[in-house]
Amino acid sequence: MMIRLSSKIQKDSIVDGEGIRTVIWTQGCPHNCVGCHNKETHSFSEGHLVDVEDVKNQLDELECQDGITLSGGDPLCQIDAVLAIAQYAKSKNLNIWCYTGYTYDQILKMGQSNNNYLQFLNNIDVLIDGKFDIAKKSLNLKFKGSSNQRIIDVPKSILRNRVCLVKKYNSVKKYKPLYEKCEYIFT
Ligand code: SF4
Repeated sequence: MMIRLSSKIQKDSIVDGEGIRTVIWTQGCPHNCVGCHNKETHSFSEGHLVDVEDVKNQLDELECQDGITLSGGDPLCQIDAVLAIAQYAKSKNLNIWCYTGYTYDQILKMGQSNNNYLQFLNNIDVLIDGKFDIAKKSLNLKFKGSSNQRIIDVPKSILRNRVCLVKKYNSVKKYKPLYEKCEYIFT
C-alpha cells in the first residue's frame, strides 16, 4: 500500500502536538481554507508516493520521540494508509495526533459507509478538527490556527459518545492587564 506525502518525515517537532514528535506530512487536501499556509499540499497528484512499509520502518528507527503527528494536506483523504500507520504506531506505544479539515462529527458520518474512519479514530489519541477559519485566526492558540478548531481527546470522546476536549489546550487564559501592576507601583 502506498501513501502520498508532501515531504520527508520530520523528526523532533515541538509545534505539532505535545512533546517531541515525528510529523508525517500527507499530500492532498480538498478543503481550500482561505489563508491556508500549506497550499502546496493541496494537489492530489504532486508530492511523492511512499510505501507504507517504508513509513513503518522509519517509525521503527525513532528515538526520543513522544509520538507521531499526521498532518498535511488532509491525512483522512488517504484513510487506508493512515489507518495502517496509526495501527502500527499504536502497537509501538507511540502517541498519535492527527490534524484534519473534517470535523469529528463529519468523520463519524463518513464512518457509516467506511468503517476504516471509525477504526482510525479507535487508534489515535488526539484529533485537531475542522477547517482553518481566517476570521477566527489567533497567534495565541496552542497547536491550532483558529479558535473554531478543537483539540479533541479521542479515546474519551469515544467512551462518552460525545466530543471531549483536551482541557489544557482549549481553555482561555485570562491575563491581567499590565496597567494594573503599574497602578500598584505608583500609588
Ligand atoms: S485543511 Fe489544512 S491543509 Fe487543507 S486547506 Fe485547510 S488549512 Fe490548508
